[in-house]
Amino acid sequence: MTRKLRAAVLGATGTVGQRFIQLLEDHPWFELGAIAASGRSVGKPYHRACSWKVPEPMPEYARDRVLSPCRPGLEVDFVFSGLPSSIAGEVESEFARAGYPVVSNSRNHRMEEDVPLLVPEINPAHLDLIPLQQERRQSSGFIVTNPNCTTIALVLALAPLHRAFGLKSVSVVTMQALSGAGYPGVASLDAADNVLPYIEGEEEKVETEPLKILGNFKDGKVDWAEFGISAQCHRVNVRDGHLEAVSASFRQRPSRGELVEALASFRSLPQELNLPSAPRRPVVCLDEPDRPQPRLDRYLEKGMATVVGRIRPCPILDYKFDLLGHNTIRGAAGAAILNAELLRTRGMLEGMG
Ligand code: NAP
Repeated sequence: MTRKLRAAVLGATGTVGQRFIQLLEDHPWFELGAIAASGRSVGKPYHRACSWKVPEPMPEYARDRVLSPCRPGLEVDFVFSGLPSSIAGEVESEFARAGYPVVSNSRNHRMEEDVPLLVPEINPAHLDLIPLQQERRQSSGFIVTNPNCTTIALVLALAPLHRAFGLKSVSVVTMQALSGAGYPGVASLDAADNVLPYIEGEEEKVETEPLKILGNFKDGKVDWAEFGISAQCHRVNVRDGHLEAVSASFRQRPSRGELVEALASFRSLPQELNLPSAPRRPVVCLDEPDRPQPRLDRYLEKGMATVVGRIRPCPILDYKFDLLGHNTIRGAAGAAILNAELLRTRGMLEGMG
């Protein structure tokens, strides 16, 4: 690597944007080139525009940076987007058309045929969609997305199991943290003493995104994986970390030992390449009967792993287990940064220069 690449963070004042600011401090390959947000924030220094909610203090390096509008013209090599879906679609397309690589968290472009829904441990071959996207859209930039925060925790555990034993069906019941709804997010009177059994659009994402991610790239397109997923999503009174109760059946039923071994030994390209944000173990298996728990386990592997526990036979499907993922780290900003690191190893971020 010759020089650090300059990244812009769109939506830098938001829940995901704040994680980007935190994770980019002292990043070995990237530096913050610009921050952007809504008209409410443009022109203000970061510490005035932002209501900082990350448990650690706001990094000094960002405090006095001034917010720009979310429009092309930023002097950066590439763009991270943490924008709300109400505007992300058009803004991200505008940046891609203007020649920027866009590494997005938002749902808008995830399921488009020519857009990679990238998890570097699982489907790096899907990056071959990018030249097709550029040709089809006559665009020198491009868009790469990471999955929904609930999906990514789930699919990191499903991937090694699907490869080894072939998934037939998956049922998942989620208990999702408040920070997943952004800020201010869920009203305190709805969150306190309560569980909300509905998160708009969430179940549809969890039931479809893993099938694209686990699909095979062949003849210029992704053939989706073929198994059924049923999701029931709930918002619970937890600050960070989505817990998911999973049951699964397989084409070849493994023993419990084989299942644990497939999860715990899972390693892939980011670990081989030693990417700066790659967890050493993408899936961490815990033995204690009452783990994982959000408060105790969400920062394992710096929040970049899926933490699995309570692996046991299921009387209806084959096995059931619980898993946990940090929704704003591996579920959002950390995932996008890992995607950008993989893109850099392919020389795909040096566009704007
Ligand atoms: P958030 O806390 O509400 O933050 C939204 C950000 O977007 C703020 O920086 C806000 O700037 C900016 N923004 C809002 N309207 C804008 C406009 N019209 N023009 C330009 N900027 C605008 O939301 P979030 O939770 O960070 O979510 C951001 C995206 O990431 C969403 O698409 C969400 O679905 C996705 N995501 C979130 C999570 C999570 O755990 N929270 C996980 C995965 C994916 P101002 O401060 O100036 O208003």
